[in-house]
Amino acid sequence: MADTNLMPIPGHIDPVPVAREITPRADGRIDLIGLPRARIAELFAHVGLDAKQAKLRAKQVFHWLYHRGVTDFEAMTDIAKTMRPWLTERFVIGRPEVIEAQHSTDGTRKWLLRTADGHDFEMVFIPDADRGTLCVSSQVGCTLNCRFCHTGTMRLVRNLTAGEIVGQVMLARDALGEWPKGRMDFAEEEDEGSYSADGRLLTNIVMMGMGEPLYNFDNVRDALKLVMDGDGLALSRRRITLSTSGVVPMMARCGEEVGVNLAVSLHAVTKDVRDEIVPINRKYGIEELLAACAAYPGASNARRITFEYVMLKDKNDSDEDARELVRLIRKYKLPAKVNLIPFNPWPGTPYECSTPERIRRFSETIFEAGISAPVRTPRGRDIDAACGQLKTAAEKKSRAELERLWAEKQAQLG
Ligand code: SAH
Ligand code: SF4
Repeated sequence: MADTNLMPIPGHIDPVPVAREITPRADGRIDLIGLPRARIAELFAHVGLDAKQAKLRAKQVFHWLYHRGVTDFEAMTDIAKTMRPWLTERFVIGRPEVIEAQHSTDGTRKWLLRTADGHDFEMVFIPDADRGTLCVSSQVGCTLNCRFCHTGTMRLVRNLTAGEIVGQVMLARDALGEWPKGRMDFAEEEDEGSYSADGRLLTNIVMMGMGEPLYNFDNVRDALKLVMDGDGLALSRRRITLSTSGVVPMMARCGEEVGVNLAVSLHAVTKDVRDEIVPINRKYGIEELLAACAAYPGASNARRITFEYVMLKDKNDSDEDARELVRLIRKYKLPAKVNLIPFNPWPGTPYECSTPERIRRFSETIFEAGISAPVRTPRGRDIDAACGQLKTAAEKKSRAELERLWAEKQAQLG
């Protein structure tokens, strides 16, 4: 049951990958979504196939599951008709349950999803002219408590399983009608990322939904491997970005074992301010974080690290802050771009968004130093699509409750 345990105390990093048990379903069947080929083969062998058969069937089933998006064993036409009921009796092909699906006037789509054990989490799809980005959650809630983030006010936390993470991407492909159809014998010719330019809506993934992905590293890595597998969802790692608040000890492994683009929620350039708004800073400070960015495997001028910077009025938005940001990026010789995010307020928040004029000046100061610093346009405002804002619409907390929760979480951080 390791997958459904509550999160360990923030800061606890277990560098040893522990084999995760599969949560049994009430009907005794096993959900295959989230499992790699080798694990599927093991399960097939365990329920009676000989090793060679198990491996062959696992390869076929893997293709149907992750490449074709099939949710019924009966649709697996290259598997013997007699074998399909045998599979159905023992296994299921799961998807997160959709509780609510909303469509914004600007095309943004948002889903409230539920795990099999009743936890709600969210997923957002943002279409643009040249790309479509799916914002994927890694946890239910977050153990961290960035003060401007609604997810940080949620107490209940559990890691999402690899199946629940890759399941979000699969559900989005279901909803957008984007599974490959037709012939099955071309798999070998396809390399990773071959879908990038074929007119699909879903072209990019950002791990920027609920939760801190580097506190759920093993499951996030396993899910993204399925997303990147050429015979799986076949999305290039160049089109995947993982956003972290700065879990420094896990950053190198993220680069080495997953190799996706990195985004870092910097949000402040002085210790005092970052300690307040991104409290993990008390554990891993700005200099340590930027040194880890400089060492991030795969970062280059062609693959820059994105620094996310939420614009908070009179908190982190002065010209001096902008100049300090430039100085820090230069000091660590970072191939960087800065994403300026207008703060999206929520009930009970202690902050306000900077004025448009201030945001423009801040952006210009950074641009003038030769560093790209676009202002992200808020999307899906009419459906509260900013991460962490869907689930809690129904769970409004009083100011006193929020203060208590922050004090509690900060005490855990030490
Ligand atoms: N935990 C990870 C990823 C999820 S948060 C992280 O912190 O990076 C994804 C991004 O949304 C972060 O940059 C976060 O700072 C930003 N964000 C959270 N709440 C916001 C709000 N109310 N307005 C604007 N951006 C917000
Ligand atoms: Fe967690 Fe990220 Fe929100 Fe911070 S910004 S509370 S790390 S989800």
